[in-house]
Amino acid sequence: MIAEEIIRIHEALPEGVRLCAVSKFHPAEAVREAYDAGQRIFGESRVQELEQKVKVLPSDIVWHFIGHLQTNKVRKLISLHPAMIESVDSLRLLEAIDEASRKEGVVTKVLLQVHVAKEETKFGFLPEEILEYFDNKGFETLTSTHICGIMGMASNTDDRERVATDFRSIADIYNKVGEKASAIGLRGFDTLSMGMSGDWPLAVEEGSNLVRIGSAIFGSRGY
Ligand SMILES: *Cc1c(COP(=O)(O)O)cnc(C)c1O
Repeated sequence: MIAEEIIRIHEALPEGVRLCAVSKFHPAEAVREAYDAGQRIFGESRVQELEQKVKVLPSDIVWHFIGHLQTNKVRKLISLHPAMIESVDSLRLLEAIDEASRKEGVVTKVLLQVHVAKEETKFGFLPEEILEYFDNKGFETLTSTHICGIMGMASNTDDRERVATDFRSIADIYNKVGEKASAIGLRGFDTLSMGMSGDWPLAVEEGSNLVRIGSAIFGSRGY
């Protein structure tokens, strides 16, 4: 079942769009099943759970951290050497990641999470904060963090127009930063992470090149 879904989604994704299989709240055996079907990028949202899985699963798994991260968990997370932290939602967190990465002697790839959805509970930068950050070349103070792109979520609604509009707003930020990239000396800004189980085809239509799919692969999480 897991393997079939992995294969089905890989076949459905256009070339150049990567799949992050969101394995949070599912056991290591489920990850193993997806791994055996060829999946390599996995998404986790809690540091402790990631730590447990890193210990028992193959070392060539590409772990993406996608959950809200408290600054007091940053050092632990960085010590696990995640391939990417997609959910950087404040400058304070970005600075903490940079400092911890410097101490650990690694360069950490991150995405900035932008908030466009109507839910108040979702974390992230406002679009104008992100534009301002790049206009001011804020990234120049980072020594051990590489900002690779933007992550975002659409409103949790059946209103497809609303979801499409949200994805367009997220893509718009990504494109605006990308247009400035050479002028401001920004390199390797190439990742637009959007789209989940219920809305990923729409996200891909709007330009996503990294989808984060959990329940459609692993089943419901029961929380
Ligand atoms: C849980 C989660 C997902 C996956 O959600 P599904 O609806 O299960 O596909 C994707 N992105 C983020 C940031 C998440 O927290």
